[in-house]
Amino acid sequence: MQELRRREIRIKADSVREKCKVSRYGIIDLFKDCERLEYKLLRYPLGEKADLGFTLIKENDTVIFTNTSSHLSREIFTLAHEIGHVILHINKGESFIDDHITISGRSKDEKEQEANYFAACLLMPSDDVERFLDLELVDFSKQGLSAMDIARIMSEFNVSFDMALNRLENLEKINSNERLRLDNERNQKRVGNLLRSVGGNSKLNEASECIDIPYEYIEYVIYNYNHNAIPKETLERALKCFRLTVDDISDKLMDHAEEPDDLEDLIGGLTD
Ligand SMILES: [Zn+2]
Repeated sequence: MQELRRREIRIKADSVREKCKVSRYGIIDLFKDCERLEYKLLRYPLGEKADLGFTLIKENDTVIFTNTSSHLSREIFTLAHEIGHVILHINKGESFIDDHITISGRSKDEKEQEANYFAACLLMPSDDVERFLDLELVDFSKQGLSAMDIARIMSEFNVSFDMALNRLENLEKINSNERLRLDNERNQKRVGNLLRSVGGNSKLNEASECIDIPYEYIEYVIYNYNHNAIPKETLERALKCFRLTVDDISDKLMDHAEEPDDLEDLIGGLTD
């Protein structure tokens, strides 16, 4: 990536960050900020092996999905990556689907690399990282970083251990040997223990399995069902997300013998 483009991405990440609620250094809750950014956010536990997230424009909505079966810190990174696609790349009718390869930075695709760079700049801007190292970590300049320091960074910036190491290495705060040493220390002590030992947020290292879907989507699902575009099982599954059953919404259901409208237009659901 050219430095000119990197600068452009930093400027865009910075302007998104201005709309987010930030504590002393890190963004407090990027999920909540989606509302302010006017994105429709869907969170659902799709399973550990499924895709991590996607972004698409549907009618006038920017829809972002994140899989809550991945560790919370990774889900936050996925969300930041998807916001990157929205800000940098997406056009009407286009969509991005992300998995472990695109999110981990192993993809050679330029747009994926840009979205990852955007996410890093959004979650851990270099001046805030600098300030944190200077003001919060006592012996950083003399002794370098310990795995407990990385856990402190994780908790403040709401990022994973790996993301913290990546970013610190890219910002030349640690070299590859230090990174290796911290990686080994992490493997011995486990991230959950490290987070607890610094009074950090150990939830970052767990999957939230949270279900969060904008309520208006239920209307859309019912509409599709009423027009014979989706089977009853799909309706039931969607209702389950809201902890509802078919009986709870029976007043909204039409007689199913009715002729469908233009079926082609209706088929598809959320991701067409
Ligand atoms: Zn992507």
